[in-house]
Amino acid sequence: MADSIFMQIISGEVPSHKIYEDDKTLAFLDINPVQPGHTLVIPKKPITYLWDLDDEDYMAVMHTAKLVGTKLRQTMDAEHVGVKVEGLDVPHTHVHLIPFSTPEEFRYIPDHRNAPDHEALMAIAQKLAF
Ligand code: 5GP
Repeated sequence: MADSIFMQIISGEVPSHKIYEDDKTLAFLDINPVQPGHTLVIPKKPITYLWDLDDEDYMAVMHTAKLVGTKLRQTMDAEHVGVKVEGLDVPHTHVHLIPFSTPEEFRYIPDHRNAPDHEALMAIAQKLAF
């Protein structure tokens, strides 16, 4: 099976706006953010479902989510950081971290046909990067 887009992001074959990386996990900005600062935390292992990760990788993903989520709360102009795991589109575990202040902001559905705003993403990544 061909590598998913997230494996290509891990290898650097596909560029990303990286926030944090360690030996087991990577966090980068979602290219079609629900809200500014919307970040994806992924394991480096290509496991489709969160609960199929072994405990060590699961804990590593959750630890990175806490680290990055805390920074999102401190840095972005938002009252909350929502956490969501759906995996409807990309078959590689990813935890969504979404800064928001109102329920409408959290429930917003971005139009994926729009071209990503790389300048805005880059500016946010610079503020959030570890
Ligand atoms: P899912 O519906 O699988 O939970 O969400 C997949 C997410 O991956 C979507 O929010 C989508 O915008 C994001 N995404 C898809 N392709 C890319 C990509 O090439 N780069 C980045 N940074 N995010 C992507």
